[in-house]
Amino acid sequence: MLKENLENVLKNIADSEERSGRKKGDVTLIAVSKTKPVEMIKEVYDLGVRDFGENRVQELTEKYDKLPSDIRWHLIGHLQTNKVKYIIDKAYMIHSVDSLKLANEISREAVKHSVTANILIEVNVSGEESKFGVSPEDLEDLIRKISVLPAIRIRGLMTVAPYVVDSEENRQFFIKMKQFAVDITRKNIDNVNMDCLSMGMSGDYTVAVEEGATFVRVGTSIFCERNYK
Ligand SMILES: *Cc1c(COP(=O)(O)O)cnc(C)c1O
Repeated sequence: MLKENLENVLKNIADSEERSGRKKGDVTLIAVSKTKPVEMIKEVYDLGVRDFGENRVQELTEKYDKLPSDIRWHLIGHLQTNKVKYIIDKAYMIHSVDSLKLANEISREAVKHSVTANILIEVNVSGEESKFGVSPEDLEDLIRKISVLPAIRIRGLMTVAPYVVDSEENRQFFIKMKQFAVDITRKNIDNVNMDCLSMGMSGDYTVAVEEGATFVRVGTSIFCERNYK
């Protein structure tokens, strides 16, 4: 079951890469394992996946201790400043930075632990009120302010697109995200890289790949529905 699901997702990614003229292997699949037990994660790990995504700090740290150390753990959910200290040396990348306050704390903890924190700036590209993320208007200013902090490296952008039935509806947002990344790159801001673009989930990742995603975050299509009890 997991094997078939995973093969399907990987095939869809490869097809989308090919359709849009991208290099094969340009896109990294992040298997979003939130709420799923370590046994299932290990199964997916044994099938070759090394990038996993969690949205809660405590869940990430618990799984971190129980699973192989070569897993790259991506923190993809909203992060509270008081929890940064628990994941600073465990998360390979933090996808959800959307305020200077949070970036300051990440920087401070990274200095303390002698690591460099790789972060993405979360953008609320659709303008939905319920969403986290910096607004497109404030994006450049936030990036400039974060870029001067020690021990933190901006690697690109991330977004959570709206939940839609027809994935084509989200193409406009993925196109915008790619354009933001291109615009920021042109500004040549020191210490800022735009090589990562984290967008696309189970419902729309093929469209995201066509529009330039380098990370897709796929949970349900690999692990099946989640049960929040
Ligand atoms: C849960 C989650 C995903 C994966 O969603 P699916 O629809 O299950 O693929 C991706 N990104 C974020 C930020 C999430 O919280």
